[in-house]
This record gives sequence, structure tokens and C-alpha cells, in this order.
Amino acid sequence: MTQPNDTLFGKIIRREIPAKIVYEDERVLGFHDIDPKAPTHILFIPKRYIPTLNDATPDQAELLGQLMLAAAGYAREHGFAEEGYRVVMNCNAWGGQTVYHIHLHLLAGRQMVWPPG
Ligand code: 5GP
Repeated sequence: MTQPNDTLFGKIIRREIPAKIVYEDERVLGFHDIDPKAPTHILFIPKRYIPTLNDATPDQAELLGQLMLAAAGYAREHGFAEEGYRVVMNCNAWGGQTVYHIHLHLLAGRQMVWPPG
């Protein structure tokens, strides 16, 4: 049985709540984070519901790669490729995940620090 996607991001996919969408293809959606942690902060999500990275399966490897390529494409198109940027996926509580529909953060436009907090 398919799980219902009652997360915030499920609602964004179904256009039940608004988002500033900047990227869309058949399988991936990209939109601005509502509380940006960098001058540019975009979230790339699969339209298919995957709660956490722990739930991803081998048949979803291509989909996960598409999230990365969508982020890299956005960074390239917006002039961040050369100076650099960061992509991050948080997993569960210790990883800092707060929305349980996987999403790849693209952070750009400032110097990042390492290690992250
Ligand atoms: P996480 O902490 O799960 O890795 O990231 C969740 C992200 O979703 C956070 O950076 C948070 O600011 C963002 N977020 C939370 N609620 C909303 C919302 O309603 N709309 C958008 N666009 N982003 C949200």
C-alpha cells in the first residue's frame, strides 16, 4: 500500500501550499527554502515520496542522482559553479532532518565552513 505523503513537501508537490518553484521536471521539484541559511538556498525533492535517505532503495538510485544533477545544473545556471556551493541531505534527528520527505539542500552565495554544526 502506498503511504500518504502528508508532509509539507507533499503539499507543495500537490500545490496545496505555495512555494517559490524554480525547477521542475517529471520526477524532481526545486523551490526556495522558506528560511534560507545562505543567500541562495534551494530544496530539490523527488515527487515520489521517500521519507528519509534510510528508506531509499536501489531502484531509486537514478532518482537520487537526478536530485544532485538538478542542484548542480541550477548552480551552474546561476553562476555558482566556479566559486562553489554546498549540497546537503539531512537524515533523521541527529542529522537535523525536520521535514520527512527527502530533500537535497543547495546552499550558495557565501563561504561555507567545515565541519558543519
Ligand atoms: P531539514 O531540516 O529537514 O533538512 O530541512 C527542511 C527545510 O525545509 C528547512 O531548511 C526549512 O527552512 C524548510 N521549510 C520548512 N517549512 C517550509 C515551507 O513551508 N516551505 C518551504 N519552502 N521550506 C520550508
